[in-house]
Amino acid sequence: MAGSQRSGSEVHGGRLTVDLCALAANWRRLADAARGAECGAVIKADAYGTGIGRAGPALRAAGCRTFFVAHLSEGLSARAALPQARIYVLNGLPPGSAPAFAEADLRPVLGSLDELSDWAAFSQGRHAAALHVDTGMNRLGLSVPEALALTGDSRLDGAGIDLVMSHFVSAEQAADPVNARQIADFARVREALPTLKGSLANSSGIFLDGAGHDLVRPGYALFGGNPTPGTENPMRPVVRLEATIVQVRQVEKGMSVGYNGRWTAPGPRRLATLSLGYADGLPRALSGRGHALVGGVPCPILGLVSMDLIILDVTDAPAARRGASAVLIGDGLDVDAVGRAAGTIGYEILTGLGSRYVRDYGG
Ligand SMILES: *Cc1c(COP(=O)(O)O)cnc(C)c1O
Repeated sequence: MAGSQRSGSEVHGGRLTVDLCALAANWRRLADAARGAECGAVIKADAYGTGIGRAGPALRAAGCRTFFVAHLSEGLSARAALPQARIYVLNGLPPGSAPAFAEADLRPVLGSLDELSDWAAFSQGRHAAALHVDTGMNRLGLSVPEALALTGDSRLDGAGIDLVMSHFVSAEQAADPVNARQIADFARVREALPTLKGSLANSSGIFLDGAGHDLVRPGYALFGGNPTPGTENPMRPVVRLEATIVQVRQVEKGMSVGYNGRWTAPGPRRLATLSLGYADGLPRALSGRGHALVGGVPCPILGLVSMDLIILDVTDAPAARRGASAVLIGDGLDVDAVGRAAGTIGYEILTGLGSRYVRDYGG
């Protein structure tokens, strides 16, 4: 956290503030919504861009005991931050990696019969793992018939399988009939493997009926994303992104702005140049589409987002001046809205948050 010692004018770029209190409150909120199921936390992609070294311990202090990451390398970071926790690695067991998993006490989520056989042969019951069953994604996991045929298979004990899991295709679209099909298929798998605990729900899945099982796996909602799109966001915002105005300038009718002159002033305008760009994780797709808040006033992003700079129309924002802050995420401008403006989802905004920011951890 080299950044926390610096502040203000010395830092002329983006500032990311992560509210660890809100993160903990979101975990508790989801644990309540899980109604009796254990609430884990998915902290892949550096805890959705917030920093696993701070987010992990904050979640553990809130009561979380089970964590999920995507890769072995993330598992090692998670282990360093969370010496006591159960840590599962979602993306499976790469060939030859079993000793590295065991050494760091990481549990692979085995996603194919090959992985199951490998881990069982290595582990011989000494190291735990989870089994992933595919119910519709066709991405990772044994097929349902493969899973049903495992009843009584000695590899389950050999591989130390203590959890069977699957993953929703469209949990954030509650009315999609695929949800009910996946819930029913997963129930059949659990009946065939009755001694294993079960886990199905991601953030949005927690809000579907019949998806709780023994353990839920929220990620996005912990970090403030809306797990129930189309209805009010029950989560508290966690991430705030601000950047400094480098300079304010006046343009006249007909003058163009930025690379390739994609925006031309329709009349006299005040512009502010902000010290952050796509190299900081602010998507170039926000060119001409998003906005930032200056003194609470929404100010459109003009022209193309540059690598290190963007240009705002601050004609209606009297607070805009050299050294003032603009808010890119926060104050009601939430990650879901920024994602929509960029033609993507808030997940990509969060996980794209670059390493260039100064990060402050509040709360
Ligand atoms: C990323 C992921 C999650 C968390 O999903 P969110 O929608 O962020 O809550 C849960 N399970 C699996 C398998 C995942 O890959």
